[in-house]
Amino acid sequence: MRTIQIYDTTLRDGCQAEDIALTLEDKLRITERLDAFGIDYAEGGWPGSNPRDEAYFKAIRTRTLTRIKIAAFGSTRRVGVRASEDKNLDKLLRAETPVVTIFGKSWDLHVRDDLRIALSENLEVIHDTVRYLKRHVDEVIYDAEHFFDGYRANPAFALECVRAAADAGADLLCLCDTNGGRLPSEVATAIDAVRATVQTPLGIHCHNDSELAVANSLIAVEHGAVQVQGTINGIGERCGNVNLCSVIANLQLKMGYRAVGTAKLRRLRELSRFVDELANVESNKRQPYVGQSAFAHKGGVHVAAVQRNPRTYEHIDPALVGNQQRVLVSDLSGRANILYKAKQFGVDLEKLDGHVRQLVDEVKRLEHQGFQFEGAEASLELRMHRVQHGPLRYFELVQFRVVDEKGYMRLLIGEQGGVSVRTDERIEHDPASAWAAVMLKGPNGEIEHTAAEGNGPVNALDTALRRALRRFYPRIEEVRLLDYKVRVLGGDDGSAVPVRVLIESGDGTERWGTVGVSPNVIEASWQALVDSFEYKLYKDAKPRERGRPARKPPGSAGGPPARRVRVQGRPGRTR
Ligand SMILES: [Zn+2]
Repeated sequence: MRTIQIYDTTLRDGCQAEDIALTLEDKLRITERLDAFGIDYAEGGWPGSNPRDEAYFKAIRTRTLTRIKIAAFGSTRRVGVRASEDKNLDKLLRAETPVVTIFGKSWDLHVRDDLRIALSENLEVIHDTVRYLKRHVDEVIYDAEHFFDGYRANPAFALECVRAAADAGADLLCLCDTNGGRLPSEVATAIDAVRATVQTPLGIHCHNDSELAVANSLIAVEHGAVQVQGTINGIGERCGNVNLCSVIANLQLKMGYRAVGTAKLRRLRELSRFVDELANVESNKRQPYVGQSAFAHKGGVHVAAVQRNPRTYEHIDPALVGNQQRVLVSDLSGRANILYKAKQFGVDLEKLDGHVRQLVDEVKRLEHQGFQFEGAEASLELRMHRVQHGPLRYFELVQFRVVDEKGYMRLLIGEQGGVSVRTDERIEHDPASAWAAVMLKGPNGEIEHTAAEGNGPVNALDTALRRALRRFYPRIEEVRLLDYKVRVLGGDDGSAVPVRVLIESGDGTERWGTVGVSPNVIEASWQALVDSFEYKLYKDAKPRERGRPARKPPGSAGGPPARRVRVQGRPGRTR
């Protein structure tokens, strides 16, 4: 089985992505993760481009790494300076890495219009740089920038450029589709030509501007490349680099190559999530192999079939990449979905049996109104419980009232010279000025009445309800509102259209999602809040069934730990 080297440039190319910024500590932690995952190389940065990258190379030397080789990245020497006198090359060497990756021009257009030198001089620049580095570093990787565009424009010159690097002793020539514009067939042809010209091992570095980065990398391997350069989740400049998660999974599961080993591959999803989390970006649900939806089934026919045999609608066993099958409850769904969910929630299927039709109808009716349970499984579980056992009766609402204020006249009593006077004053009201009052009946009919202020009406309502419940259920204090989303549901009726509110809550050990729908955003929020608090009380009171798997937090479909909380929108006055 041929082994393909994986060269990660998340820390360098990945950091050139819009909205991505990694701290020094993030970069160190990612390096350790990549190492543990079995990646061969990590490109740490470009010493000389910024102080943080220099600090990285210093700091990484103090970390214990098992196998990964750290590479410093830089450009060929400047025109008109000897390699030994080039300041940037000196900085590269001072990073003291076992590998240096150096990029140079291969496209005549760049040599003429960007460098503005003779084509032959570019060959000298490449040769001189690589030969000089090779005298000081164990391993020199030559990145042939724009190789495929160069090969298309002037194949003879592009080949001379990589030959210059090979002759100077480069250990590997990495051919780059820097602009991400080439097709798999072009990549294949160009690689064949390079292999006919030089003996040096080849690598591939693709960008994703035509959404072909994975295809281009795989065909390069089929045509003899032994190294793939890319980033975790494909983060990178413009549309990104090739996504190594997909590359590794395809190489190993579809093409029979070895990249990281079978056991490591099972941690692919975890690695993907880890990088998203540190980069502070929302994970892409639809990311192949590792995304939350990658093995999610919604259509009733699909659901019934995958339960008989998952291979009917799944291209691989999701466990191979650390993912898992999910079944979504939706208006497309029927009996099979409800039973699947009931099993997942640990509901007694025998007891449920007589109620399945009723539940399916109930879910369909609610979904018609705009409810969606895919991100609100706690609301669904509560409904299943209610259908079987009736209402939960933890508390009963008597009344709530919410007031939201801005910019009003207020009478102030002030003191002037020890004498009380009345002064009229206009106040631009402080934004944190909503308040809510809640009156409810406790478990034994006791009335509790509370009020609270908040930075918006929902926040005020949440605080007031929490205070009211605290008297009966002290553990309600553990509940935190983690995320709040409002979605206006389609309709022709302007402001009268319903909104759906999704709330994500947690108590330190578990996370759960709840939902509410109403034309009134406060009412929709109230429904989702009540479900959230009821779910907390319900789950704390419920004995865990033996052998029942630990509950997965919603939004985290399997195995790996829950993501760091990102509060996207706190309940505020704009809701
Ligand atoms: Zn790149």
